[in-house]
Amino acid sequence: MSGLDDLPPLREVIGAQNLIAKKSLGQNFLLDLNLTGRIAREAGPLAGRDVLEIGPGPGGLTRALLAEGANRVLAIERDDRFLPALADINTASGNRLIVEPADALGADEPALLARHGLKTPVTIVANLPYNVGTALLVKWLTQPVWPTWFSSMTLMFQREVAERIVAANGTDFGRLSVLAQWRTKPRMLFDVNPKAFLPPPSITSTVVRLDVTPDPEPAPLKMLEAVTAAGFGQRRKMLRASLKTLGRDPIPLLESCGIDPTTRAEQVPVTKFLALARAYAASP
Ligand code: SAM
Repeated sequence: MSGLDDLPPLREVIGAQNLIAKKSLGQNFLLDLNLTGRIAREAGPLAGRDVLEIGPGPGGLTRALLAEGANRVLAIERDDRFLPALADINTASGNRLIVEPADALGADEPALLARHGLKTPVTIVANLPYNVGTALLVKWLTQPVWPTWFSSMTLMFQREVAERIVAANGTDFGRLSVLAQWRTKPRMLFDVNPKAFLPPPSITSTVVRLDVTPDPEPAPLKMLEAVTAAGFGQRRKMLRASLKTLGRDPIPLLESCGIDPTTRAEQVPVTKFLALARAYAASP
């Protein structure tokens, strides 16, 4: 019986099927089995778990996820050219791979997972173009119900974005840091040299794992988005000025949360942003 180990090397598949990387879709493929295996192990343990992968491409990481024992992998891919290569991986894995040809940004993940009978919460794993990765991370972090349909996310980002996700207060700290640290425990795992990709991108990448916090401090999501958008939208201004766009007098709002109105957004810890969102929701 042929299995994942009997599949032809990825480089051969890419050559034989003429899968030339498209810049417009941010395609930089990982061919190094040590690296794809390492990412899959860091996302694990996967044995018996169902996985959502975004952007499988020719399937390097997909193979690793299946080899690490994922029960089933649902992979959302926008570029149909990869479907034959992914179909071969499905066969070699004993039909454990489901491919959904779609744009992940518009996908209704819970509906897809339910339609294919995957067991939630799933593990999310992705090596995505960076603009799409950030937009998806925000989409996932702003799910209306929490805890949600995934329990962890292991994602590749441009190093600067990874630093913003995990940043404590200071210059890298922003909306993404507040959202990520409110609802998950994010940590940077390791850097990936551009040479590991085909073709090599111009930046260093970093793998980040975010574990869902099952019981985050309560805060109204829309209000939190509003206060962080106002505060970080004009991040050089003091909060007493930048929060004026909220349509309330910022000074009593800030003082009711114990925040000095002369501080800037990047100096405010996550818990204070949550308090501010609650105060904003409660203010007339
Ligand atoms: N996972 C593969 C790997 O590690 O070699 C490919 C990674 S490549 C950086 C990004 C992949 O995401 C490509 O296959 C691309 O077609 C796909 N992609 C880009 N935008 C997407 C979107 N909006 N929805 C789904 N897939 C997308």
